[in-house]
Amino acid sequence: MKRLVLLGPPGAGKGTQAVKIAARYEIPYISTGDILRRNIKEGTALGKKAQEYMDHGELVPDDLVIALVEDRLTWEDCNNGFLLDGFPRTIYQAESFDKYLAQKDMKLSVVLNIRVPEEILLPRIIGRRVCKTCGATYHVSSMPPKAEGVCDLCGGELHQRADDAEETVLNRFKVYQAQTAPLIDYYETADEIAHIDGAASQDAVFDAIVDILGA
Ligand code: AMP
Repeated sequence: MKRLVLLGPPGAGKGTQAVKIAARYEIPYISTGDILRRNIKEGTALGKKAQEYMDHGELVPDDLVIALVEDRLTWEDCNNGFLLDGFPRTIYQAESFDKYLAQKDMKLSVVLNIRVPEEILLPRIIGRRVCKTCGATYHVSSMPPKAEGVCDLCGGELHQRADDAEETVLNRFKVYQAQTAPLIDYYETADEIAHIDGAASQDAVFDAIVDILGA
């Protein structure tokens, strides 16, 4: 049973690692960013409330995200654990999540904090391309698709996430430093955190995570 949280700045490779972790430990991968983007695409009430914040790289209000996560965690596939990516993102969310877990008599296994120096994050994010159909991610220089603009896996069209444009990314870094980085100390105090060097290759990062989580 693994109940995991992935922490790290935008572009740390959380999404890439999350897919591998979820497959290896057979737990659902829950990305609040992905859920919010899906709601925007489908034009739901939640999507309408979230869009303006997301387009500017700002955080969506805590209560909306907390409700979304608490609902998602009631799904049956979470009985065997879960992997959260992008939540919690503020101290308020973390405190509220701790209360939720305590109520359900649950405890996090560990918070995985992926550390990457900021100077290598910006080129990583700006070159990122995502498949509109299946969500697979590529990078224009370090992981290009076989044919430009086309997903290797499903043939879908690749695009840049609206919030991956340079100006928005710089704001997302600021927001991360101000609101999310304090969570490192929060979980350090609770003795629930493990640090991983996210500047290493994708395989090396995954190996380090498996070392921490065990077989
Ligand atoms: P991500 O895909 O995790 O980078 O998230 C993309 C955007 O979704 C963020 O810049 C926020 O606008 C919003 N978002 C995702 N998760 C949260 C959260 N836990 N709290 C507030 N906003 C969030």
